[in-house]
Amino acid sequence: MLACVKTANGKVEMMDLPVPQPGPGEIVVKMSIATICGSDMHFLDEFPNEMVAALFPGAVLPQGLPMGHEGAGVVHSVGEGVTSVRPGDRVIAACVATCGKCSECLRGEFSMCSAGSTTTLVGRTLFGCQAEYYTIPFADVAAAKVPDGVSDEAATLATDVMSTAFGAIERAEAGFGDSVAIFAQGPVGLCATAAARARGCGLIIAVDAVPERLEMSKRLGANAVINPKEKDPVAEIMALTGNQGVDIAVEAVGLQATFEACTMVIRRGGTVSSVGIYGLLPQLSMPMLGAASFYHRKIVTTYCPSGRDRMERLLGLMEHGNIDLTPLFTHRLKLSEAPAAYDLFRSKSGGVLKIALTP
Ligand SMILES: [Zn+2]
Ligand SMILES: [Zn+2]
Repeated sequence: MLACVKTANGKVEMMDLPVPQPGPGEIVVKMSIATICGSDMHFLDEFPNEMVAALFPGAVLPQGLPMGHEGAGVVHSVGEGVTSVRPGDRVIAACVATCGKCSECLRGEFSMCSAGSTTTLVGRTLFGCQAEYYTIPFADVAAAKVPDGVSDEAATLATDVMSTAFGAIERAEAGFGDSVAIFAQGPVGLCATAAARARGCGLIIAVDAVPERLEMSKRLGANAVINPKEKDPVAEIMALTGNQGVDIAVEAVGLQATFEACTMVIRRGGTVSSVGIYGLLPQLSMPMLGAASFYHRKIVTTYCPSGRDRMERLLGLMEHGNIDLTPLFTHRLKLSEAPAAYDLFRSKSGGVLKIALTP
């Protein structure tokens, strides 16, 4: 089968790998669609394969690291003990595999699952979705059937960016009429904009330096957009809120500067909700002076809420709740063109947000 494999930092290659066989509790899925995520770029450009191998035993093959953790497909084969899905079912699984048995899963914190990773600090990321076939472990706990009314593209967004971004708004306990500023309008930030609107928030302010992304922000529910190349977002957000600050600021890219900006624009008692992936950034620091003090802020983080129940709820939201995030798919390429797709995604040019890769 054709698979996109990282052979060295910054380099992916298309390879012919054997179709995987499902072990106990696993299913093998025939991919219908996969997509590239900002987290893939961290794995590709920053994390050496040896580091990934140490964090996630078994993830790295002798040929390299099979790429991709966001996709949808059809069950091809079912391992021993799997009862929830059958060959032919359309399925997705969240980008973090969830065993359902470890202490984190038993607490309902599926994305904190400690099975299959060497540290409880990192959930077990799924790998290999950018291939014609891939394995979903712990299928009864992790895999959800996709309703007929939800497209493959829509379902794929539930596996990471939608779950992460909606989680950012939920964890901030956003309520009706709350004001929200969202720093960065990549796929996660844009989904957070849509989530804030779906949650009944009031003023929603989106910040990004790419004009096409700000256009999409408005389409998905932002009332005001700020391009930091034109205006200082902190000053602008304070002006838009009568110098009070917003109730919630979402960090959706994973940079020190945007995290700091979030701490500067929240009101006293407001919430910073951080979902950007900071990669190998060794330290994240917070300004102690400024608008609100350390003691007057709430800071929450979210790592892609996962598990079958979560996926089913998001799919239900797309099927019945008037949530359409598929405009995020700006480019459609063949799986065989994945290396070019990575270059395009990294460049952030041509209005690219999400790239659909299909067989
Ligand atoms: Zn992702
Ligand atoms: Zn677990």
